[in-house]
Amino acid sequence: MQYNQDARLDPSQVEYRSGGRGGGGRVAVGGVSGLIVLVLALLFGINPAEMLGGGGTASVNQPGTDMSQCQTGADVEKDRLCRYVVYTNTANQYWSGLLGSRYQPGGTVLFVGQVATGCGTATEAVGPFYCPNDGKVYVSPSFTEDMLQRQLGAMGGDAAEAYIVGHEYGHHIQNLTGRLAQVQQAGQQTGPNSPQVRLELQADCYAGAYLANVTSLPNSPIAALNQDDLNRVADAARVVGDDYIQKRTQGGINPDNWTHGSSAERKHWLAQGFNNGVNVCEQVFSTVG
Ligand SMILES: [Zn+2]
Repeated sequence: MQYNQDARLDPSQVEYRSGGRGGGGRVAVGGVSGLIVLVLALLFGINPAEMLGGGGTASVNQPGTDMSQCQTGADVEKDRLCRYVVYTNTANQYWSGLLGSRYQPGGTVLFVGQVATGCGTATEAVGPFYCPNDGKVYVSPSFTEDMLQRQLGAMGGDAAEAYIVGHEYGHHIQNLTGRLAQVQQAGQQTGPNSPQVRLELQADCYAGAYLANVTSLPNSPIAALNQDDLNRVADAARVVGDDYIQKRTQGGINPDNWTHGSSAERKHWLAQGFNNGVNVCEQVFSTVG
């Protein structure tokens, strides 16, 4: 992914929390148990901390450090963590441009080990997630290498990360529109046509709309998405499909347990948003699968 060297960044939208390793040290995500937790997180996506029991210890409540080293697009080369400021700034800029005063900017928390959130305590083994209680996206900077590439066999890359972060900001939009609460009130459901799956596919659609527009935002720090970038985005959507994960981790496919949709569906709705814009994304809820 190509960055605009001169574009100004707003590092205040991202914080970095490390040292949240209370108790067990850094969570191993390479093993079998790590993989199981990963699957749960990818399946339940939003708010896995609650699902994992939450609570936790005070040791994870360390204050975050700021990201003030990230001032321009050129800083991504100097400190690779700055790329998360780019993803976050552009997601907020895109949605703010669409929703105007109805939009409340979300924040991103980069964390290592464990993190205390408005939804309880989470470890990085759960993968990226959105917490509606505090309006923040939580992601481990090593997620792409540890999970997407090593565990799921994805190509990885910055564009793939922008898709994942864009998906989580899609949940932020659903939080603001009330769609998230509506689906959660319907109870945890699974299966290809469940409200839960549609919620996830809509977040993919929103991510697609964001990616299609990200380079044309005023003074965007992202200069260009080339064909290789787009291939990496589609590849990431493929490896987070329920059928792909089930086959890879369990050897078989059971659609009744799907909560995020198949690889094909995720790629489809990502492309819908990318090609047709944000307005098609509501159709996820009226389409009979
Ligand atoms: Zn999700």
